[in-house]
Amino acid sequence: MEKVSTICPYCGCGCGLYLHVENGLITGVSPSAHHPVNHGSLCVKGWNCHEFVQHPDRLKYPLVRKDGILQKSSWEDALDLIASRLSGTKEKYGPDAIGILSSAKCTNEENFVMMKFARAVIGTNNIDHCARL
Ligand code: SF4
Repeated sequence: MEKVSTICPYCGCGCGLYLHVENGLITGVSPSAHHPVNHGSLCVKGWNCHEFVQHPDRLKYPLVRKDGILQKSSWEDALDLIASRLSGTKEKYGPDAIGILSSAKCTNEENFVMMKFARAVIGTNNIDHCARL
């Protein structure tokens, strides 16, 4: 078993941990005893933060609802649809009809880009983050 040093993705604390990797699969997690944030501790989310990586329910491609059924789509088609729906909603109801939720699983830089997208592209201050939910 190999231990890979990384950071918990679930919140902005950024606790240090090791992923346990066996035969190319993540099998568990243990805290980093010397990490300056968590000093060998993890909360319940950190102890289980590896479970989504290989979960069979994890989405690996976009799904678009057609005729009431979610169907596999290409990223290009899904992004075109999202752009079209956001533009249509903004045009019809104004920018404040749109809200953006970002994620602690994103990097600070990705969250910054999301904030810029909301304010500069969409034109709304309706931007929030899952860490506050
Ligand atoms: S272990 Fe808990 S407190 Fe630490 S980063 Fe993960 S979710 Fe946040």
